Amino acid sequence: MQRKNDFKRLKEISETPGVSGFEHKIRDLVHANVHKFGDKVWTDNLGNLIVFKKGKTDKKLLVAAHMDEIGFIINHVDENGFLRFHPLGGFDPKTLTAQRVVVHGKKDIVGVMGSKPIHIMKPEERKKSVELDDFFIDTGMKAEEVKKYIEQGNPVTRDRSMIEMGDCYNGKSMDNRISVYILEQVLQMLSDETPAFDLYAVFTVQEEVGLRGAQVAAQAIEPDVAIGLDTTIAFDTPGSQPQEQVSKLGDGAAIKIMDASVISDVRMVEFFKRTAKNHQIKFQTEMLPAGGTDTGSLQRMVKGGSIAGALSIPTRHIHQVIESVHKQDVLDTINLLFYSILEMDKLKMDYS
Ligand SMILES: [Zn+2]
Repeated sequence: MQRKNDFKRLKEISETPGVSGFEHKIRDLVHANVHKFGDKVWTDNLGNLIVFKKGKTDKKLLVAAHMDEIGFIINHVDENGFLRFHPLGGFDPKTLTAQRVVVHGKKDIVGVMGSKPIHIMKPEERKKSVELDDFFIDTGMKAEEVKKYIEQGNPVTRDRSMIEMGDCYNGKSMDNRISVYILEQVLQMLSDETPAFDLYAVFTVQEEVGLRGAQVAAQAIEPDVAIGLDTTIAFDTPGSQPQEQVSKLGDGAAIKIMDASVISDVRMVEFFKRTAKNHQIKFQTEMLPAGGTDTGSLQRMVKGGSIAGALSIPTRHIHQVIESVHKQDVLDTINLLFYSILEMDKLKMDYS
C-alpha cells in the first residue's frame, strides 16, 4: 500500500516537454528510472517504451499510460520573426491567451502567445470567441535571429512549473503525466513481487492525436487483458449540474464505465470494484461523454479483441496549463492498479 507521493519525481515528469511525435525527452526521463524494474525493456519503432515483467502464467496483461502532452508544431516563420503554428491535440483556443511557451528549435526559445489587444477590437470582434488562428508566437527576437534557431516542424510546449496547491498538485500536462508517474510507482512497488500475468507496462506515444501508440503496442503484444490509465474530467466546480460532473476530486480512483472510444468490459469493471473493496481503496465510477483514451485501441487492435478497462484520475481544468489532481486520488489509483496487477488471475475471463 502506497501512503505518500513523491512530489519531486512527479514535478520532474510534469515539467519535461514531450508533445505528440516528439516524446524523446520524457521517454529518456522515464527510461532512466524504470529500466531497473523490468526483465526486459525496449522502445518500438513508433517510440512506445515497453517494460516487461514475467508473471506467474503466460497470459498477457498490457497497462498503458500515454507520455505525450498536447502542444503545437511550427508551420511558418514570418518576415518579422513571428511564428504560426498547428495544434497537436485538442485545444480550447481560449486557454492560449497570455501563455508562455517554449519552442524546441536548435535550442529552446521562450515565446508568448500573442493576439489582438482588446482596445483595438471592434465591438463585434469582442463578442466573438477566439480561434487558434488568432494567435501567433512572439519570441521578442529579430527575424534573422529567430530564423537561425527555429524552422517549420519544431515542436512547442507550454511553459509552467508544477506546485502543491491545497490538497492538489497543479501544473501542466497532468494529462497524462500523472499516469506516467502512477505506472512508474507501481512498477517500483512490484520490484519484489510476481504479477499474476506477464506484465507489459507501456508508456505510449501519440495518444493526443488519435491513440496511435497504443494501437501499435496492442498489435505487437496481443494482450489478453488491457488497462488504460488516463485523466478524466472533474467538472465538480461552480456552474455544473450533478449529471455533468463526470468525476469528483477526492472521491477516489475512477473506474471507467465508458468514454467516446470504449465501453469498458463489464468483467473488468466488476474486477476493479471487487479489488478496491477487498483492499479498502476509495473509488468512483466514471462516464466521459466525449474524448477517448488508449483503452479504445487496446480493446480492438488485438486480433479477437482484449478484455479491456481503464482507471482514470479525476482532473480539474483539464487541457489547460493549470490542471489539478487530488493527492489522495493519485494514491488510491496507485494502490488499485498495484493490487489489480497482482490479483489479475481473479478476473473472470469467460462469460459463464
Ligand atoms: Zn490523456
